[in-house]
Amino acid sequence: MILNRSRRGSATTMPPGPSGDRALARPLVSLRGVTKCFVTPAGPFYALRGIDLEIGQGGFVAVVGKSGSGKSTLINMIAGIDRPTEGEVWVQDTPVHKLSENRLARWRGRTVGVVFQFFQLLPTLTVVENVMLPMDFCHVHSPAERRTRAMALLSEVEMAEHADKLPVAISGGEQQRVAIARALANDPPLVLADEPTGNLDSKTAQAVFALFARLVAAGKTILMATHDLDLAARAQRRLILVDGELVGGSSLATVSMPGPPAAAETAS
Ligand code: ADP
Ligand code: MG
Repeated sequence: MILNRSRRGSATTMPPGPSGDRALARPLVSLRGVTKCFVTPAGPFYALRGIDLEIGQGGFVAVVGKSGSGKSTLINMIAGIDRPTEGEVWVQDTPVHKLSENRLARWRGRTVGVVFQFFQLLPTLTVVENVMLPMDFCHVHSPAERRTRAMALLSEVEMAEHADKLPVAISGGEQQRVAIARALANDPPLVLADEPTGNLDSKTAQAVFALFARLVAAGKTILMATHDLDLAARAQRRLILVDGELVGGSSLATVSMPGPPAAAETAS
């Protein structure tokens, strides 16, 4: 089973900590005072300002905010694609803000699946080769297993019949499903999605959201930046970014938004 409860991300494999329920409650993602300042010709620009955030294992969190509010920057901090100017980013027991570039790439490949608005499949590789790529990079599965696993992931997103096509030969919604399969290649506990439905029609966006809800039900933790307030309202939690600051009261792990998706009822 590909969409089984994540092994690496399960509470039983969390780092040692306080005993009992408090250990289980340890967040998967933890940001402490994260600030990101870009140096621009016009002077320093603060894209994130003092972000404190905890996301528990199995959470489905939407990040909303206007264009330019810092959503992508926040995702990049958690994925280790970019570093904070100040503050700390922890995923499980890893201080992401401290990792060297080499270690970051390996850590990211195993721990985080990233889904982008424009899919970013490699155009010269077939669908199944795109899904195998993270496995090739991280050597998580034996070469013989990789194609079998990639095909199983493609089946989960109902794309197996397109396995040998090039990305250009399939629709946007299909490309996004392949990108989600690729994000799951190494069975990461955390999936970060940056406007994953931003380039899809509303019916296809609903299908992608439903797929995310299934992943959450299977034990993944998802952080999704979105412009779509209807979709955001159906996540378990909603974070609102305004000019690089989290506003509203939902940034603490203990606070859930109403209306969890039906398929995500098992999430904590
Ligand atoms: P969002 O994803 O919410 O649209 P971003 O996180 O992409 O917002 O950007 C937040 C702000 O930071 C924007 O004003 C953007 O122009 C600025 N920004 C992002 N990346 C850079 C960069 N590399 N250099 C300078 N400014 C940047
Ligand atoms: Mg963005």
